[in-house]
Amino acid sequence: MIQLYQPLNLMGMVYREIKQAIIDIEKMFSVLTRRAEVQDRAGAQPLRVESGSVKFEDVRFAYDPDRPILKGLTFDVPAGRTVAIVGPSGAGKSTLSRLLFRLYDVSSGRILIDGQDIRDVTQESLRAAIGMVPQDTVLFNDTIRYNIRYGRWDATDEEVEAAARTAQIDDFIRMSPKGYETEVGERGLKLSGGEKQRVAIARTVLKAPPILVLDEATSALDSHTEHEIQEALERVSRNRTSLVIAHRLSTIVGADEIIVLDQGGIAERGTHAGLLAAGGLYASMWNRQREAEEARERLALIGDEE
Ligand code: ADP
Ligand code: MG
Repeated sequence: MIQLYQPLNLMGMVYREIKQAIIDIEKMFSVLTRRAEVQDRAGAQPLRVESGSVKFEDVRFAYDPDRPILKGLTFDVPAGRTVAIVGPSGAGKSTLSRLLFRLYDVSSGRILIDGQDIRDVTQESLRAAIGMVPQDTVLFNDTIRYNIRYGRWDATDEEVEAAARTAQIDDFIRMSPKGYETEVGERGLKLSGGEKQRVAIARTVLKAPPILVLDEATSALDSHTEHEIQEALERVSRNRTSLVIAHRLSTIVGADEIIVLDQGGIAERGTHAGLLAAGGLYASMWNRQREAEEARERLALIGDEE
């Protein structure tokens, strides 16, 4: 029985590995074909960034035609202002940031930057104008210096290191085996979610783009580091048009406008004070997070007493 079991078990393992490999290949093709959908229009011109204002006009989008994700979003991020997007997980927040970066095209409606439809400009110029700190940062299999310099190729070593200091990752890098020349990514040193986020923040600090998109940029950090990086991000976003997707509401209290997204539509919008006074979805999210934080603080106090 045991003699039969082992080969069968092995076959099962081989089968599962082959199946995973096929799934990976399918995923890769879906990424490749999807990227191929978004193309520069014939005669596309470079984006002309003036003040860097962003406008979503009745934007609708679906990954799969049967399942609408964004159901007609209209809002502005005026030049130099900060608009925050909050809402339950799955509401479509990250999707909205991907559309602005034009990883996908809208199904209908328009996204404009300084009056130009982003489908009419070259992708290269569009992406040069936007600094994006995504929810999950993928690093290149290269040195950590290369990964930060990706933000701006002509940056000097000093500028790369200054950006790393702003993003609070410089100490970590210096303690790594080969400092800034340490290989990271799949085949090198594996970084935690929070470390990868800090590399992405350093890139963006270096790029200093007119438009900033932060998708839960500090969600993988502990609250102490988050607080410190928050200040750095506020410095970077000052006088820049910023779209900030936030998980922790305490980080967006100062936004010029807060948009509460729910199931692909705008459920509420206003300032922090206005939305609290309205006593709706935002107010209940805020109260829930406050209570959770207070409970954590009480636990920490009890921990200190012991
Ligand atoms: P949020 O960032 O608000 O949590 P997302 O924008 O990531 O939400 O996702 C919105 C919805 O779109 C979710 O239901 C999610 O499952 C779906 N979705 C996200 N990415 C894809 C994708 N690449 N293909 C198909 N569906 C997706
Ligand atoms: Mg998201």
